[in-house]
This record gives sequence, structure tokens and C-alpha cells, in this order.
Amino acid sequence: MRADLCLPAGQNNGDDEWVIPEFPGGIRELTPFVREVMLPGGPDVVPCIDDQVSRFRLAYRRSAIDRWGVFAAEDIPARRRVTEYTGERISHREVTRRSLRPRTYIFWVSARVAIDGAVGGSGAEFINQGCAPNLIARVSRGHVHLVSQRAIAAGDELLLDYRIRGGGPLVTCRCGAPNCRGYLNHPDDPRLARDLANDDSHTAFGKRQ
Ligand SMILES: [Zn+2]
Repeated sequence: MRADLCLPAGQNNGDDEWVIPEFPGGIRELTPFVREVMLPGGPDVVPCIDDQVSRFRLAYRRSAIDRWGVFAAEDIPARRRVTEYTGERISHREVTRRSLRPRTYIFWVSARVAIDGAVGGSGAEFINQGCAPNLIARVSRGHVHLVSQRAIAAGDELLLDYRIRGGGPLVTCRCGAPNCRGYLNHPDDPRLARDLANDDSHTAFGKRQ
């Protein structure tokens, strides 16, 4: 089972106890805030590809774009469901609470419900942003299916255009695509248009990182 393979340091051991490696043999109960908000998605967490969810063989390794990436381990034809973005279903209010984390893996499936990939994620939460993506997200009955937009060769990194909406911070994109717009935020974000207009490092070919 994937849960046994994916426990980050300080993760729940399944018996409602929290094992902290810095205290060998010691068990500490953490506050709900630390347990629910600060630990999931921490810097020690590595991707765990859930083979039950993925329709194709996927692998993770270091990515030139950001930390870890998810890669095709076999050829994937166009227009196929590749995997599903899974995780804990949480409310708008809980998203706000968890947004205090250094890293978040939130995918909105409706105006009120989001999926937190940091808790029970299929590994798809580690798919990096790409401004020329090879995946597109399709929401169906509350499930987020990641579908290949074109044929993906074995060894290619899976990429998804996150197009973050809302008033959150602008997040720099390092996808390296010739058409990179420089940010993970939605191209319609008015701040993005302003920022792009005022930044002469953006050329006709997009922002170079
Ligand atoms: Zn980009």
C-alpha cells in the first residue's frame, strides 16, 4: 500500500500517534494545527505515484523546472486519461487555513470544494507547471482527470498549466517553454498583464529564467 511508502518525517503512523525521528523511540502528539496544516506537503515529502490511480506507468525524479517532477515511464497516446488528481476534499475555509503552508497542493473542483493533494495525493500533485503543457485537467463529477493533450513519449515530463485564479501571490514559472508567460497565474490575471508590460526582460518569446 502506498501509505507505508510515502510517510514523510513526522507523519502519522496510522494509530493516531506521531513519530518524530529527532526523538528516537519517542512519540509526541502534535497540535492539530501542526498536524493538519504544517506537516503535509513539507520539504521532506517525495512524490509517491499511486499505481491504482495512474492509467500509465509514471515515475518521479528531479526536475529542471522545480524540485520533483512526474515523468512518463512509457509512451502515452493523445487524448487518454493519464492519472487523477486525488487528495482530501476540503472547504474554502480549510483551504485558507492550509494556505499557511510553505507549499500547497490545492486543486479547486468547484467554487466551494477543493482537493488537497498533500493528503492522500496520487502523486499527480507533483506534476509541474508548463506553459506548453502536455496534460489538461478535466473535472467530471468532482473528479479531476488529467488527460494527455498530445502524444507523450516515455521519459517526457508531465506538465499542466495551473492557471491559478484569485488574488493570491504571483508565482514565478520556470518551465522554460518558448511561450512561457513567466507566472503560474491565469493569463487573464490583471496584475500579470501589468507586470508583463512593465518588465523588459519579457520579450516576444516570453520571459527567460
Ligand atoms: Zn512557464
